[in-house]
Amino acid sequence: MIDREALVEDAPGTPSFVDTHCHLDDESFDADLPDVLARSREAGVRRWINVGFGPDRWRGAIDLAARHPGMAFMLGVHPSEAEAWNTRVHQDLRQFMIQSPPVSVGEVGLDFYRGETNVDQQVRVFNAMLDLAIEHDIPATIHMRSSESLILDVLQSRTTVPPLVFHSFDGREALTDWILANGACVGVGGLATRTKSHDLQRELKRIPLDQIVLETDSPYLVPNGFKHRRNTPESITRIAAFLAGLREVAVADIAAQTTRNAERLFERLPPA
Ligand SMILES: [Zn+2]
Repeated sequence: MIDREALVEDAPGTPSFVDTHCHLDDESFDADLPDVLARSREAGVRRWINVGFGPDRWRGAIDLAARHPGMAFMLGVHPSEAEAWNTRVHQDLRQFMIQSPPVSVGEVGLDFYRGETNVDQQVRVFNAMLDLAIEHDIPATIHMRSSESLILDVLQSRTTVPPLVFHSFDGREALTDWILANGACVGVGGLATRTKSHDLQRELKRIPLDQIVLETDSPYLVPNGFKHRRNTPESITRIAAFLAGLREVAVADIAAQTTRNAERLFERLPPA
């Protein structure tokens, strides 16, 4: 396991991490977000991308990032919010994106975990989100649950796709093949660290390190060995240590490479 003190104080250069996907506007952080961010900074995680995943979250995500140095935001319509989508909401989102440019469109995609009830609407919204990312010249961050083959169908049916990040990646071989062929990125978080995630770990070994970013999805997806029920961005160090073990490289190399990747992908990330 990782020695956090050593991580922070080791010279030369303290590892610096980016949590590329977290929900810091979640109500579970209402009482103590400044403390959560302070502990995160101490652990070397000094930048965060908060996810404004639906119309009633956009304004809050923009405001929260303005109040906390190092925090960026993405804006989008999560598949669970697909029913709220219409041309007015589309115009609203476009307006927000012009006034307060996000680092990415997200999280967007397809989610059939609770059944395939509104497939057409989800696909329509997903395509509209990919179009918006292209229009604004930013990546799209994909949320995918019980929907891998249809996600692939949608991507393959398009003439263009923006740069993509598969958030909390747990794809199978066919999706990994597409990612390798198309240079997309994957977000690695708590899911990968679980002892049952053999298949995912096998796929992750096939993906070059320059296509991987780290994420916690806080307050969700607590990584293995993290002693709290609420996930927080400081647990990025655990995910990095896990990935270092899986790839047999130093944690400092994971930090440097994943930070470079995040800066390359999310051009509007605030400076370290
Ligand atoms: Zn998320």
